[in-house]
Amino acid sequence: MDAPPLVENYHAATASDRRIPADVVIWDETLRDGEQMPGVHFSPEEKLRIAELMSEIGVPLLNAGIPVVSAEEARAVERLAHAGLRAKVLAAARTVPADVEAVVRSGASHIAIFVAASEVHLRYKLKMTQEQVLSASRATVRQAKAAGLHVAFVTEDTVRAPFDFVERLYRAVLEEGADRVVVSDTVGIMTPLTFRWFLREFDRRVHPPDLSVHCHNDFGLATANTLTALEAGARAPHVCVNGLGERAGNAALEEVVLCLEALYGVKTGLRTERLYELSQLVEELSGVPIAANKALVGYNAFSHEAGIHTHGILAHTLTYEPLQPEVVGRARQMILGKHTGKAALAEKLKERNATPSDPLLAELLQRVKRETESRSKEELRAFLAEYRRLFGRPGLSDAEFWRMVDEVGIRAVTA
Ligand code: MN
Repeated sequence: MDAPPLVENYHAATASDRRIPADVVIWDETLRDGEQMPGVHFSPEEKLRIAELMSEIGVPLLNAGIPVVSAEEARAVERLAHAGLRAKVLAAARTVPADVEAVVRSGASHIAIFVAASEVHLRYKLKMTQEQVLSASRATVRQAKAAGLHVAFVTEDTVRAPFDFVERLYRAVLEEGADRVVVSDTVGIMTPLTFRWFLREFDRRVHPPDLSVHCHNDFGLATANTLTALEAGARAPHVCVNGLGERAGNAALEEVVLCLEALYGVKTGLRTERLYELSQLVEELSGVPIAANKALVGYNAFSHEAGIHTHGILAHTLTYEPLQPEVVGRARQMILGKHTGKAALAEKLKERNATPSDPLLAELLQRVKRETESRSKEELRAFLAEYRRLFGRPGLSDAEFWRMVDEVGIRAVTA
């Protein structure tokens, strides 16, 4: 009889429930939604650096930004569109003819035309009726198609909108020639099960030829919901490197890609071994630090300290690692600290060809534990205080703002 496998893989048991397209298109939103994160701003040069690396890694489609936002943003989109990237460059537009025109002028080959779909957005934000949204959407999709663009149609807040309106709106833009449609969980309230129901209903009513999803992470479910959408047949998931994005961010590029590649064995075409490099570049240029315990790219994602764990890892990495760190371009770290055990020390001592007696090893272990337990936390506390000062309230301070108000010459009305 064959020896049993070292670990069981139950993903095979759910294979028949999955309808993941063979040609998944990773649609990166780091330079658009990611940049909309409070305090984040990329210069055109920084956008180009990130886009070039993404392109090298094999990200097939990236949103460069919204040209009508500012002259600098238009310049950034234009630079990316003309940089000769292997990635397709997309730019976004509201359902406003001038927005579409700006995308056409930028030279981007792809456009995402977006409008809100829920009643709360229509009534309080857009101040438009469903009929107005419908006709503006039709007109701008027609305009973009006539200009020869690949058109994705996006609604914000799709999953809180009346389904009958969602159905009419998407059917209308598909009639106008939209190539791809995007369903958004703009405030991140879906759960995998409910999202699956929503997408099945959407599929039944709209029959989209090509579906994409945009999931936010307000409840920490962005990646899970995105995976659910892929399992339900969505082709082009929206992702952001390091999970950047509005509020709690979007589905993280590295998480979605590794779920597909490492858990399901689905090829995304990305060179995963360079994802850590991409993650670090985005961390540096966005100025948003990656959480230490962030999946895959956080400092702790492949670090081990606890004695039982390091002992296991040293015996066989499958004991406490779901994938080899090299897969995302990282290396395993053995941390010496309070929770360290003898196995880790013995392993470390091999670097000096030392094989100490048990009492010496025990003494060394006590010293390592004592040293790390008694270490001052001052430096760390000072760092955290500085972190809170910088990130607790990005953007202008009140003092800076009111000085600006005074300089502009806006005065309070006095009786
Ligand atoms: Mn968003």
